[in-house]
Amino acid sequence: MKDAKSFDLLYKSLNDGQRRAVDSIEGPVMLIAGPGTGKTQTLTMRIANILLKTDAVPDSILALTFTESGVRAMRERLISIIGNTSYYINIHTFHSFASEIIQSNPDEFIIATEIEPLSDLERIHIFKEIFDELDLEILKPFNSKYYYLRTAISKIQNLKREGIDTKEYKKIISESEEMLQKDIDKNVELSKIYELYQSKLKSYGRYDFEDMINFVIEKFKTSPALLQKYQERFQYFLVDEFQDTNFSQAELLYQLSSYWDPNPNLFVVGDDDQSIYRFQGASIENIIEFNKKYPNSLKISLTENYRSNQKIIDSAESVIAKNKLRISTALKIDKNQKSKIKEAGNDKCISYGEFSTSYTENHFIAQEVKKLIESGEKPNEIAIIYRNNSDAKDIADMFSRMGIEYTLEGGENVLESGLIIRLMHILKVILKIRNKSEDIDLFTLLNYEFLEIKGLDILKLSRFASTRKLNLFEAISHSEIAESKIENLKVLKAFFEKIVYWNELSANVTFMKFLEQVIDESGFLNWILNKNNSYELLNKLNSFLSEVKRLNYSKKNLSLEVFLNYVDLMVDNGLGISEKTIDVETKAVKLTTAHKSKGLEFKHVFIPKFMDKKWGNAINRDLVKLPTSILKTIDLSNEKAIKNQLEEDERRLFFVVLTRAKENITITSAKSNQTAKYQKIASPSMFLYEIPNENINAIDIQKHEESASEILKQILTPYKTEEITIDEKGFLKDSLKNFKISASSLNTYLECGYKFKLEYLFKTPQQKTRSLILGSSVHRALEKANKDIQSKKPVLIDKVLSDFSESLKSEILNDKEFSEIEKEGHSILKIYHETYKHEFYCEVENSILHVEKFFGWGFSRPLLDNKIHLQGKVDKIEILDKSKREIKIIDYKTGMPKSRGEILGETKMTDSGQFRQLLFYKLLIDLDDSFKYTVREVELDYIGHRSGKPKRENFIIKDSDIESLKETIRKVTADIKNLKFERTTDTHFCEMCRFKFHCYPDGVPASKGSQLELC
Ligand code: SF4
Repeated sequence: MKDAKSFDLLYKSLNDGQRRAVDSIEGPVMLIAGPGTGKTQTLTMRIANILLKTDAVPDSILALTFTESGVRAMRERLISIIGNTSYYINIHTFHSFASEIIQSNPDEFIIATEIEPLSDLERIHIFKEIFDELDLEILKPFNSKYYYLRTAISKIQNLKREGIDTKEYKKIISESEEMLQKDIDKNVELSKIYELYQSKLKSYGRYDFEDMINFVIEKFKTSPALLQKYQERFQYFLVDEFQDTNFSQAELLYQLSSYWDPNPNLFVVGDDDQSIYRFQGASIENIIEFNKKYPNSLKISLTENYRSNQKIIDSAESVIAKNKLRISTALKIDKNQKSKIKEAGNDKCISYGEFSTSYTENHFIAQEVKKLIESGEKPNEIAIIYRNNSDAKDIADMFSRMGIEYTLEGGENVLESGLIIRLMHILKVILKIRNKSEDIDLFTLLNYEFLEIKGLDILKLSRFASTRKLNLFEAISHSEIAESKIENLKVLKAFFEKIVYWNELSANVTFMKFLEQVIDESGFLNWILNKNNSYELLNKLNSFLSEVKRLNYSKKNLSLEVFLNYVDLMVDNGLGISEKTIDVETKAVKLTTAHKSKGLEFKHVFIPKFMDKKWGNAINRDLVKLPTSILKTIDLSNEKAIKNQLEEDERRLFFVVLTRAKENITITSAKSNQTAKYQKIASPSMFLYEIPNENINAIDIQKHEESASEILKQILTPYKTEEITIDEKGFLKDSLKNFKISASSLNTYLECGYKFKLEYLFKTPQQKTRSLILGSSVHRALEKANKDIQSKKPVLIDKVLSDFSESLKSEILNDKEFSEIEKEGHSILKIYHETYKHEFYCEVENSILHVEKFFGWGFSRPLLDNKIHLQGKVDKIEILDKSKREIKIIDYKTGMPKSRGEILGETKMTDSGQFRQLLFYKLLIDLDDSFKYTVREVELDYIGHRSGKPKRENFIIKDSDIESLKETIRKVTADIKNLKFERTTDTHFCEMCRFKFHCYPDGVPASKGSQLELC
């Protein structure tokens, strides 16, 4: 002990409740410590008191907590009270404690010490094997084999945390009476997965993080001497965050403390209202269990709050009071808190505003934060606390644009970070080079900053390749490449040679060695090191590499292809590799999730995106419902009960966030929210109405939105296309010499000028996607059928199918891809043929005039205003009235059918591209003197889709539509001539664009187009 005097001094500063807790060093004690009540101080003072008042040695005290940062906080506090003695006290997380027992007793845990913890990448590898191997009726749907993979991983994790092994799980399923048959069946299949997973873990010599505690529990059961050794060693047990300990952790604790039953010196600290980490609804499970075990335990509730003002405390209490599952109700414990801080300026300390768009909402938050900092507030006293990791992106973006320094709490999925996406691109290109199937990935890669290849050289190479119908690799080694006038041909050639070298290398050295070499030799590492935020980037890279290392360690023959498959599987299933948390104290504003905010405090807390379904009332997407008897005290017997529990879980999370604030809370939401893919109309979260109205200050939204609109237009436009250099201008003008505008190039330009430039002028290489391959083979099969029909030959389905398969053979596909696309194409065509049978069996004169008719080639010269060249190809033309020479033009579509409103661009999220295409064809024909017919009708013929039947939509075109199309074409061609190739600001187009990794390697920003209109 430092000195008894300093203890006395601190002891005097404790309140009554804290003193009682510090003094009650014998027997079981439950301390209910709400937010801001000084529990860490109480806990550490109690440890000091044990040492002061008893003969106990420091080593006989075991203090367990939930996180490494909790361990550190406790140790530091103890050092300040008792000095270096604190190092002899056993302060651990449950996992580090279990690990220490295993490491200290290698002879008892022979298997556990020989095996290694499982990495995320290894887990996906094992689960993939399981889903490939097992015959499962429900959990392996025909069309989507890995659909339940993610659910299976998380459910097995839950079972392990609750200490349920495969045997017990099976028993629980067989005894479960309340479950529906379909849920039982799913659980039975999950138990098979669980069983195979465990046996695979064993054979691979791996264990899950959750298994570690279970190893110790099991060993303590079979080795009483070992258990006794620890039971005798520890006399005092203290557990922090008791509400969040899971069944296995609690079991381990009771195994040790039971030696001293019925009166162990067991001190548990917790707050049921802050339980946010356990299996749904398990918030008071531990506390009730503790009470049952030790009915006479002393219960102390700390009610003096040293963090927040009374208004915040009352508001938070009125929210959490709506929860039925609380110990204040179950055990009649008083938890009403009183603020001990000065009340100044807290008349109304919670503000709320509903903005029209998330842009104005984010702008408001950024502006308020700026004002606070400018008024002298420390930035690290300000926090933006959101529900999910993904909510941070647009807020962080706004902060960057407004020059506000922030730290984003770690834990991001590194697979979604621009850094790892770049790295994956390099690897994909190296792999593809093997099959000579490089495409847009190579183009994207060549443009990456760290390669320092000149943009114009890449364009020249692209152009050279496309004019000679070569891929980029063939182009670079072509004998006439010098003609392309690439300025730094040597650099380009050297890089291509490197790719080939890396490809060979990947087959000759271990995967990890290959990867490290690529990272080093490509300039990737150097580029990271030269960045301002290099420590953040390195943390992401290292988080990723340490996972790869572990995978490679267990799978020595890991190949590049297999590795990329695993990563794709993770990305497709929304699984990730978490970035390691960097524990650096920064002075910047903190952006963090609600879960990560636990244990922290700030003067000013902002809670953005406070919307229904995000905060409360979420849709329960539980694909596999585990038997409810897994939790003993909670009612999860029906949908309503489950929904109630989920709602209570969410309310607790909101309570945690509210109670982080010392002085002010600003809650905001937006009526219209722009996610990466779509715009969502939302209402505020139901929890807002649980805060007493008189405690809420209304934000003057109108005033802010009026002033914000203009500023936003300026600050949201920096996604500018790079300036076009003089060299590039010459190149572009040259490319435009023989340019003819088509319906698709027009639509592309209207979508995004920059995309038009890349596709039509630079002709960046494009690999055919599956849907493109399917579409063109369906088109070719129907073209042949229509030609037969035209010559009055009936067309049987077998012929259509064999034409389709024949066409498919000309594509570069492996056997698996071929059979999958063939199957899909056949099924679409069968339905289409069946639906329009009468047309296929027509043996008489029919209305087909042309099939696949080209305009704008040869003698056909459709010219607008005698100067703008148009071109296009119409799938089918039918005669409507021979005498009047009136026709109908038909365009086949193989994608998802659109509604009439969508085609006409009348709905919010669609543009009228398909309708514009039909207008374009009519104009093409009107302008073509060599083709003397009049278009009376146009049709979109949706051939069919995996999830939809064929459908046709017909339109009569108005003259005014054609006039407005002409205007559009005039404007677009003038802009193209003036080399205006801006990137779109409506970034929802980018989500589906093949250039998205080229334009936005760090992720596509949320769209602003439609958002600003709403301001
Ligand atoms: S990603 Fe977006 S900005 Fe870039 S080309 Fe595609 S649509 Fe245009």
